[in-house]
Amino acid sequence: MAKRDYYEVLGVNKNATDEELKKAYRKLAKKYHPDANPDNKKEAEAKFKEVNEAYETLSDPQKRRMYDQFGADGPQGFGGGQGPFGQGGYYSYTSSGFNGFDDFGDLGDIFSSFFGGGFGGRNSSRRQNGPRKGADLNVTIDITFEQSFSGVEKEIVITRNEDCTTCHGTGAKPGTSVTKCTVCNGTGQVKQVQNTILGQMQTTRTCSACHGTGEIIKEPCPECGGRGKVRKQPKIKIKIPAGIDNEQTVVLRGEGEPGEKGGPKGDLYITVRIKRHSIFTRKGNNVLCEIPISITQATLGGEIEVPMVDGTKEKYKISEGTQTGTKFTIRNKGFKSINSNSTGDFVFTVIVQTPKRLSKEQRELLVELAKTMNEQPPIKKRGIFG
Ligand SMILES: [Zn+2]
Ligand SMILES: [Zn+2]
Repeated sequence: MAKRDYYEVLGVNKNATDEELKKAYRKLAKKYHPDANPDNKKEAEAKFKEVNEAYETLSDPQKRRMYDQFGADGPQGFGGGQGPFGQGGYYSYTSSGFNGFDDFGDLGDIFSSFFGGGFGGRNSSRRQNGPRKGADLNVTIDITFEQSFSGVEKEIVITRNEDCTTCHGTGAKPGTSVTKCTVCNGTGQVKQVQNTILGQMQTTRTCSACHGTGEIIKEPCPECGGRGKVRKQPKIKIKIPAGIDNEQTVVLRGEGEPGEKGGPKGDLYITVRIKRHSIFTRKGNNVLCEIPISITQATLGGEIEVPMVDGTKEKYKISEGTQTGTKFTIRNKGFKSINSNSTGDFVFTVIVQTPKRLSKEQRELLVELAKTMNEQPPIKKRGIFG
């Protein structure tokens, strides 16, 4: 079944602000929460999941941008089986979907007040102490119009943490080991029972002995000082595919910050900015360009040479009586689509140049010509509805 558009699911428009998204989400999440729909739990649950998935994607600026660019399933049809990227990895945007109640964050509070608790602390220890994906990194690179047309390989230097090779990321001096925190028994959380006017309440707080990691490092690794990570500036090769447009993003999976507790590495998002070209512009996948022609070429017709983005030249016949501003299309000489196998066109507009300086001979010829023509052409009439 085709997925519904995330904006449609939340009932907001494409330009919705974060605040509007949150508001729409809160409203729908309350409406479809399975506990609030005991009579049709199944249907409500499905709706609830859908709403969560939509919000999870749209509330994250990065994911939202990727969603706007590639849609919910990411650009999987791109380039067919093998694809131009060899290892895969690129553009592999996927929505991670609904992850249970872990992801509520600050929204947990509305559920605990609305449904009588059960959301807040239950998963928080797991969230803090289990494997966590490393942070994503963002970089922006500038490329030329020609490079966006033909694709380009770039090498960039990024700064990120990498697992310390001396302690293999544990933070413990080689030969020693990391021990479980005895204060919290490795959970990173300490439970406390408080007496309040409403009766006994159990709260949890972060363990101060291990700062929530659940582990104690007695002898820290001398290389990284017990952090388990060191700052590095690796060189990264990136392939920018042909057809990429301004402000589009390439994703390199697993090139972000290292994960915690065996969690996967984060991703590297490379946003591409394309420099202005002196003669070409882009509209969709079409290349636009203006080609000046002389009055004689316009009047008599003739073959002109049109420069293509790849540096080649195309010969193109224009017919006699061509007006200034006429558009001509050379098929399939535009940008490759990065999401399909289609290719845009090269569309050029001819601009008839009125000569500013004439030789004596040219002037005499033109004067002769002028004698044979009406001095002023009749004014063109427009249709009533035009
Ligand atoms: Zn180390
Ligand atoms: Zn502890």
